[in-house]
Amino acid sequence: MAKKGRVFSGARPTGRQHLGNYLGAIKNYVALQDDYDCVYCIVDLHALTTIETTADLKQNTYEMALDWLAAGIRPEETTLFIQSHVPQVTELHTILSMVTPLGKLTDLPTFKEKVRQNESNINYGLVGYPVLMTADIVLYRSDVVPVGIDQAPHIEFAREIVRSFNYRYNTKALLEPQMKNTEIPKVLGIDGKEKMGKSLNNHIELAATPDETRLRVMQMVTDPQRMRRTDPGNPDVCNVFSMHKIFTPAEDVEMINRECRVAGIGCVDCKKRFAENLNKSLEPFRARREEIGKTPNDVWDILHDGAKRARTIAEKTMADVREALQLP
Ligand code: ADP
Repeated sequence: MAKKGRVFSGARPTGRQHLGNYLGAIKNYVALQDDYDCVYCIVDLHALTTIETTADLKQNTYEMALDWLAAGIRPEETTLFIQSHVPQVTELHTILSMVTPLGKLTDLPTFKEKVRQNESNINYGLVGYPVLMTADIVLYRSDVVPVGIDQAPHIEFAREIVRSFNYRYNTKALLEPQMKNTEIPKVLGIDGKEKMGKSLNNHIELAATPDETRLRVMQMVTDPQRMRRTDPGNPDVCNVFSMHKIFTPAEDVEMINRECRVAGIGCVDCKKRFAENLNKSLEPFRARREEIGKTPNDVWDILHDGAKRARTIAEKTMADVREALQLP
């Protein structure tokens, strides 16, 4: 079946993935493969803007690739690779930086947020992050980029950079990417308050053992108003209930919804059930992960093969770009 076009997406190598990564990104990556020619990139160069040491970079890249593969990324049809394995992206980044107004970069809300988060390390790369992201997208001639609402300004910005480049050099060398608005759920951490993430250590890893998962789930904060077992609870404000809706069979979700409100079921029991259902849902993923993980070299081969395919597309784009620039 003919595909609708090429999708590009990238994520920093953060190692073992958590439920937030799965529900907010990977699940969608897997589904997009049915309709699009997908290019998925582990953006290690982007990671350098904020990490203090690169000691874990290789292992984190491997663990992440392993999770993505186990979750259903199909490397025969999808180009899965590491950003730095295609050095053309840094060349394009430099070229695009010449048509990017600095003021626009420093005005982006995401830049201001990063400055707040990295006060002691506000580097040049951090400012240029959206330019490198644009280079990623256009280097692979991507038609669409799936993004949630918070990333929308970056794609709009990428489109502006492309237009500036094409206009200034009177060319059509770069393709203006389209935004594919994607409903990205905000998965809360076990604290029930903040977005799930590694930095807050409020996450549940997909590759955790069933026991580790159970332990994490039992630490989850439920309806904060419910103090005693005999108090009625409110599933509408309970993070465990929102997870039940994703991982628990519908008839049980209905029962929990009903019984929680009349104190028929307690939070401990509710969490035990969730842990069980979550473990059951993750069983096939974990089995595949174990299987693939038996031969780490195959995972690296997949990544190297992906980079080879990516470089072929990249070299074509760069040939057009160099010609448009009339570089000597
Ligand atoms: P990056 O900064 O490279 O996007 P992250 O590890 O923060 O790296 O996120 C990787 C992907 O997982 C992103 O698409 C992000 O939206 C998604 N994601 C991460 N945490 C959550 C969460 N708690 N809820 C929903 N989506 C999430």
